[in-house]
Amino acid sequence: MEPTTIDPNRSPAGSPSIAELTGHCLCGAVTITVAGAHDPRVGACHCRMCQRWSGGLFLCFTADASAVSIEGEVTRYRSSTFAERAFCPRCGSHLWFNDVEDGGEPKSYELMPGLFDAARKWPLRSEIYVDRAMASVHLLGDHRRKSRADYEAENPFIEGDIE
Ligand SMILES: [Zn+2]
Ligand SMILES: [Zn+2]
Repeated sequence: MEPTTIDPNRSPAGSPSIAELTGHCLCGAVTITVAGAHDPRVGACHCRMCQRWSGGLFLCFTADASAVSIEGEVTRYRSSTFAERAFCPRCGSHLWFNDVEDGGEPKSYELMPGLFDAARKWPLRSEIYVDRAMASVHLLGDHRRKSRADYEAENPFIEGDIE
């Protein structure tokens, strides 16, 4: 169902970048700065929750919580027991998905790459829930791919995707 930061498909590998990035939502009310470790590659999720939330294809990149600062009002939606999704309340742009601590603090961010100009050049890192992908969405390349069954077997705390 939901991506998690402890899965190798969703975690930084190799040398994380520390270049500073700035991104913003469509209306400009929310600005996100990443000043620290992040993985300059894009992950994709085809789970049903991500399809509903994103409109079809969910894309993200991982950044350390300590590296991320947010300016502007943000609406957070607790989409499962362990994760939240955030968006701009003015224009609706999706901002991030993240796993949260029991107290609600983000563990790390899975930020929407489309907010950041720099991320437009980044490669695709991995795809999960490939067997649930919409018929209209096929991502080419030699990146890692995981089915729903494989991903949920490796992440037993996931409660299962919606139908
Ligand atoms: Zn906005
Ligand atoms: Zn998903």
